[in-house]
Amino acid sequence: MSLEKPLEGKVGIVTGVANHRSIAFGIAKAWHAAGAKLIFNYQGERLKDGVIKLVKETFGEDTPICNLDVSSDESIEDFFSFVAQHTDRVDMLLHAIAFAPKAPGTLDGHFSDIPRDAWNLSLQISAYSLIALSRAVAPLMTEGGSITALTYYASQKVVPNYNLMAVSKAALETSCKYLAFDLGRREKPIRVNCISAGPVQTLAARGVSGFTGMFKVYGERSPLQRSCTLEELGATATYLASDGAASVTGQVLYVDGGYEIVGM
Ligand code: NAP
Repeated sequence: MSLEKPLEGKVGIVTGVANHRSIAFGIAKAWHAAGAKLIFNYQGERLKDGVIKLVKETFGEDTPICNLDVSSDESIEDFFSFVAQHTDRVDMLLHAIAFAPKAPGTLDGHFSDIPRDAWNLSLQISAYSLIALSRAVAPLMTEGGSITALTYYASQKVVPNYNLMAVSKAALETSCKYLAFDLGRREKPIRVNCISAGPVQTLAARGVSGFTGMFKVYGERSPLQRSCTLEELGATATYLASDGAASVTGQVLYVDGGYEIVGM
């Protein structure tokens, strides 16, 4: 493994780029700089043109990109057919997808108000999708592989307003561990890990009520007196995807200025 280009020769799938502020975009830049070839998704028509333009301008005109809506099995199947047309091997996959519908209690208000259908949709898109994507990518990981998902600390301790997304992240983290156990036993092992990022200003984050105030709290209370940058998340994701992390699986790695260790 070259220390300068630790992902040289590897092929990665990046999900979850919505714009240049997306965590997935920061990680894609780091993976690309580390030597990886990348394949992207966009989700639906709304952001399609913007994401395609951003990806092609940043990573090259010939970068493969295709629609993928993880709430649809058909879309997952179509996406992986597209992937298989562009590569016969995948080495890593980034899961940077989350969604909670606007409904009583989902991202503010009373947790006890969360409706059943909102719960089902959020858990399906934000957590079940890790299982569905892992199952779909596994046959392409012929030399083994690394799957990395993004999570948040509200899965562990109550962070006001995170409500439904906190539960979705708890499901995501536990799924990561069970997937790590399951897929790690293959002849060519697949590792599965989570990065628990501190707050980052992104489209998804803006949906959480009072999000901006969280930076103040991290600034005051975390050991490093700040949250994290896209570059730092990119560097951690590069480590996890590299052969340097060959024995690391089922972990939740905090990249959050150390906030996770603080009790008060
Ligand atoms: P973002 O830029 O808004 O990315 C979220 C992505 O999820 C978007 O590209 C969104 O696409 C996609 N998505 C939603 N529903 C989908 C579906 N059905 N199928 C496929 N894609 C879908 O926000 P982000 O903050 O970078 O989020 C990336 C990940 O990091 C998420 O898992 C988030 O929970 C996690 N995270 C974020 C923070 C933070 O503070 N920002 C902290 C810790 C963890 P559309 O926009 O087109 O719907």
